[in-house]
Amino acid sequence: MGGDGSSEVRRSRLLLGTVVEITALGPDRSLLEGAVSDAFAEMERIEQLMSPHIEGSDVARLSKAETPQPVSPETATVLRLGLHLAAQSDGAFDLTLGRLKELWGIEGENPQVPDSHSVEDALRGIGPQALRLEAPLVVKSSPELQIDLGGIAKGYAIDRAIFLLADAGIEFASVNAGGDMRLLGDRGGKRPWRIGIQHPRDPQRLLTTLEVEDVSVVTSGDYERYFEQEGRRYHHLFDPRTGYPATACQSVTVVAPSAMLADALATALFVLGPEQGIPLLQLYPEAEALIVDSSGKEHQSANFAEYRL
Ligand code: ADP
Ligand code: MG
Repeated sequence: MGGDGSSEVRRSRLLLGTVVEITALGPDRSLLEGAVSDAFAEMERIEQLMSPHIEGSDVARLSKAETPQPVSPETATVLRLGLHLAAQSDGAFDLTLGRLKELWGIEGENPQVPDSHSVEDALRGIGPQALRLEAPLVVKSSPELQIDLGGIAKGYAIDRAIFLLADAGIEFASVNAGGDMRLLGDRGGKRPWRIGIQHPRDPQRLLTTLEVEDVSVVTSGDYERYFEQEGRRYHHLFDPRTGYPATACQSVTVVAPSAMLADALATALFVLGPEQGIPLLQLYPEAEALIVDSSGKEHQSANFAEYRL
């Protein structure tokens, strides 16, 4: 509650496999409450289109299909950027890893290291060429290809929520989906948002704190979703070249105007690592990144330091 009669509405919901928190600030409490509810409903709508686990979603339908399938314009938008990034990253970013992800069971009760034959089998036919968008149709190169938008769809959902909040006349808001966020305006009253970035190896400590407004901040880390087997850590960001979790990084934080771009870039850079990742990042002058490599060393793009407190 601000001293100037302004209110803050903060609500959380379980969506997109994570806790989504929306905060909105402004003078008109009922406007804030209505807009926050609408923003949640919008994110749920996107989940219904893009979750692989929801029967009848665009993604579930595509994965099942043996013939080209029409998808919604929004799924096409997400696929378009995803496929673009797949090509630009030489396949490090890959929307066709559905079978591999399923094989590792990374989101299930019993994740485990699969045998190498199954890994090879799950990688068969995947890659940037395996999927073609001829909007509204999507064409798979082989029927068994399984689509996974897990590295990009959450970002798009965040963008849509921010769009609705802004459209409702809200000036200051944040949408935080499990640490992936986008800010609308500043924190009201000319204070920037302060975003703590978790240290990838010490949960008690922050890696850094960012001061930002009107941008998206997304982190991909190997500590977010993982299991341990025989003393080794296996996480949810796969290197399509090996079929195993990518080993070049501990975490990647991207600041970019759109959460969809930040989300996809964070995943792509995580797989590529700093050497190959920085050249990819240079294709997106509107994006900045902080990469912590596997030894814990930090690499940041030219202007990232300007966001650091
Ligand atoms: P989170 O969902 O934890 O924020 P990310 O945005 O980094 O994490 O995306 C992780 C998800 O991206 C995985 O759960 C999987 O669905 C998908 N994914 C894994 N590896 C890749 C890859 N190489 N390219 C594209 N998507 C991937
Ligand atoms: Mg991502």
